[in-house]
Amino acid sequence: MSVDAPPLPAASNYVGGEWSPSRSGRTYEKRNPARPSELIGEFPASGAEDVDAAVGAAAAAYPAWSRLPAAGRAAVLLRAADALEASVEQIARDMTREMGKPIREARLEAARGAQILRYFAGEAWRPKGELYEQSATGATVYTLRRSLGVVGLITPWNFPAAIPVWKTAPALIYGNTVVLKLAQEAPLTGLHIARAFDEAELPAGVLNVVVGRGSEVGAPLVRHPDVRAISFTGSVPVGREVREEATRLGKRVQLELGGHNPLIVLADAPLGRAAEAAYAGAFWSAGQKCTATRRIFVQDTVYDDFRRLLLERIERGRVGDPSDPETEVGPLVNERQLEDVLAAIARGRDEGGIVLAGGERAEGEGYLVPPTLFEDVSDDAMLSCEEVFGPVTSLYRFATLDEALERANAVEFGLSASIFTSSLESAQRFVDGLEAGILHVNSQTAGADVHVPFGGIKSSGFGPHEQGRAALEFYTEVVTVYHDV
Ligand code: NAD
Repeated sequence: MSVDAPPLPAASNYVGGEWSPSRSGRTYEKRNPARPSELIGEFPASGAEDVDAAVGAAAAAYPAWSRLPAAGRAAVLLRAADALEASVEQIARDMTREMGKPIREARLEAARGAQILRYFAGEAWRPKGELYEQSATGATVYTLRRSLGVVGLITPWNFPAAIPVWKTAPALIYGNTVVLKLAQEAPLTGLHIARAFDEAELPAGVLNVVVGRGSEVGAPLVRHPDVRAISFTGSVPVGREVREEATRLGKRVQLELGGHNPLIVLADAPLGRAAEAAYAGAFWSAGQKCTATRRIFVQDTVYDDFRRLLLERIERGRVGDPSDPETEVGPLVNERQLEDVLAAIARGRDEGGIVLAGGERAEGEGYLVPPTLFEDVSDDAMLSCEEVFGPVTSLYRFATLDEALERANAVEFGLSASIFTSSLESAQRFVDGLEAGILHVNSQTAGADVHVPFGGIKSSGFGPHEQGRAALEFYTEVVTVYHDV
């Protein structure tokens, strides 16, 4: 069954509580990656003047919003959650059409937006400080967490609902006002979030959403003197640029970047479950997740069995039209991404890797590459070290867990990692020794709960993690109050 495309949406920035085109009137076209001949809409190609207006609106809204009791802010988040939940199906369809995520994953992601808003609404009633005694007098000294002011949020296209919401919700509940820069490849999903807040009667200017290119919207936002902090999710090179500029200007900055996530399969693992997790981790969303499984290390005594199971799973996998609810693997987001992934596969072959499955563009108009599995890739080959943002993963043999941990850690990234084993001791050695911010024992490398921290170490992240109570650290600053009577 396929889902029919709804009519073309009106597409605008959301600034000061108004829907408005870019000030220059310039637009760009967004097309469906599954059917590039289908136009999704014309979106504002915004610039520095739009950023200026958005920051101005956010600065004007800040005093009243930050003084509102947190429970009042929570009420708005809860109403926005209801509005998002009421339109999960529409948001999911638009997400699928604009960036190609299979509809079954898009529905889950859209629904998660509401869950994130409800979790952060609960922060209104959780502690924001600690109480101590002064050493000399026993009088009270306490800490207080206060909002920062206007914060700039820069988001990628690959989780176009979840990531904008998981930055916006904590920013707002702690009393900040926001300028959100959406990714050019997925504006429509993000604009649904603005609409949900608009329906929730968020005061004008508290959330402002600007669409456009990174260089024309993201860079002016990072530079803007009235923006106190920048939270960025995206690629390593852009993230580094953002960090350099923001820290040069004395701003607080948080980065969530790429990964090269390993999955380790030990001989005592339930191999069927491990193969299923490898498939989902490497290929769902066409491998376009920062937490996707990029390297699969399999103990030599079960290597052949695991390889057979994974190849059988790839054979059974449903690849194709992302609007079909049965589809597991859809297209890449755009032509450039398709070209990059095909070039990486060619380089993988040139460097001696053997392609066991996939490896070519699928027939048809869409930017589709079927699940691609390599073996015999050396540890220093490009595929073993650099993030290829597509449905491409490699199998590696190992003899001992120590060897697997050492090779798994031998990359610059440290976002997520998994082990499959039935040994408590091996699981514990993995938890102690694997260098990543998110560890999974007997589950796939992707996936994140809303109430616990999410973030990478090494080159995968910078600054406090996101989600859960970790978000409080980034979106507030600590004040210490010596209170004598
Ligand atoms: P990207 O770095 O190209 O873009 C991310 C955002 O930054 C976009 O909104 C873009 O327009 C903007 N941008 C581009 N140039 C800019 C500049 N000079 N100044 C300010 N902003 C600028 O990344 P992408 O292609 O949208 O997303 C894919 C990447 O994101 C992958 O590397 C993936 O691993 C990473 N990612 C990480 C996480 C995580 O939580 N660790 C989650 C999702 C995606």
